[in-house]
Amino acid sequence: MDFQLTQEQIEIKELALKFARNEMIPVAQEYDEKGIFPKELFKKAWELGLINTCIPAEYGGAGFTSLDSVIISEALAYGCMGINTSFMANDLALLPIVLGGNDEQKKKFLTPFTTDFKIASFCLTEPGNGSDAAGIKTTIKEDGDHWVINGEKMWITNAGHADLFVVYGTIDLSLKHKGISAVVVEAGTEGIELGKKEDKMGHRSSDTRGIRFNNVRVPKENMLGKPGDGWTIAMNTLDHSRPLVASSALGGAQRALDLSIQYSKERTQFGVPIAKHQAIQFMIAEMGMKVEAARLLVHKAAWLCDQGQKNTEIASYAKAFASDSCMQITTDAVQIYGGYGYSKEYPVEKLMRDAKLIQIYEGTSQIQRLVMARELLK
Ligand SMILES: Cc1cc2nc3c(=O)[nH]c(=O)nc-3n(C[C@H](O)[C@H](O)[C@H](O)COP(=O)(O)OP(=O)(O)OC[C@H]3O[C@@H](n4cnc5c(N)ncnc54)[C@H](O)[C@@H]3O)c2cc1C
Repeated sequence: MDFQLTQEQIEIKELALKFARNEMIPVAQEYDEKGIFPKELFKKAWELGLINTCIPAEYGGAGFTSLDSVIISEALAYGCMGINTSFMANDLALLPIVLGGNDEQKKKFLTPFTTDFKIASFCLTEPGNGSDAAGIKTTIKEDGDHWVINGEKMWITNAGHADLFVVYGTIDLSLKHKGISAVVVEAGTEGIELGKKEDKMGHRSSDTRGIRFNNVRVPKENMLGKPGDGWTIAMNTLDHSRPLVASSALGGAQRALDLSIQYSKERTQFGVPIAKHQAIQFMIAEMGMKVEAARLLVHKAAWLCDQGQKNTEIASYAKAFASDSCMQITTDAVQIYGGYGYSKEYPVEKLMRDAKLIQIYEGTSQIQRLVMARELLK
């Protein structure tokens, strides 16, 4: 066993952290407050090779491993969990093509993301079906040499800016998860109707919307795998993307810990820096312990992907533990800042709002526990 990062991983982590410190942190507060979509930053990060980390080298990608991807994502989330949500959504949307697409589809849909800056969306959730994803109602019907999509999606990250959508629907509602299929829809296809941008508690710079697909026609060759393969593709995607989402929580938690250490040494009460009070020390110790444990889980969940081993159970441990820890750590960071922590002039209230979402999307903390229990008891 070796817990050391390779020289290459150390360099890519430093590059991503430098980008987080110099480009993201200075604008994160303003982008959040005004809900500014970080398109310029997105493009800069893409130019540096920090975006679309899942694209294999044979299709023009950097050939990063899953472990490389979580190291990059943690560093970018250190800059801003909200901006990183926009970045990560590209991987979430491209992973089904990487994992479920054929060679032709990978060349057609992945390679353009390496030669030009492009944005993608993953469309699974619907207004009536979130956790119960197998119950989605969007239909995909055969019509000659096309598929016709009808239905409504909800909470779709990047939707207002996407060049490509990976859309899940069913070929037959009565088949439940066995009917679910995934198709690639290019932006500009007739019948795509974008909803309003959601006004969110946190991650306010990310673009989140509902989308309607009204008789949207796509060529037959845009289906990933066969009709009915969509559920397996979606579950494989989540096994790969949950470590990534967990790494975003980890980046936010690390930032909250660093800020807490810094502030507790500067702020004086009762004639000493508050870091001298044991109650503060214990909160900081707890934060450090959780950050370290979350990192070990995140790295193991990604490493299992790289070994080609099933990681469903560990990926759920990583996602739930990192996001629940991030919520606790950012809440404690506000506590350590006292009244100033409650003010928007200081960075920790935003961290607390941003942490909340990571317990919700890509499977809530409750759903992760259902997955863990299912894996443990089977
Ligand atoms: C900002 C944002 C961005 C998002 N981006 C995307 C995206 O890009 N693409 C996409 O497809 N989706 C996206 N989502 C959707 C997200 O994945 C869902 O919101 C999430 O899966 C929860 O679904 P829901 O909101 O319908 O909640 P529900 O499923 O209605 O859950 C409500 C509550 O019930 C609990 N619950 C539900 N079922 C059970 C059960 N069996 N046992 C115990 N508790 C249960 C949940 O844990 C939760 O606490 C996004 C969501 C948000 C808020």
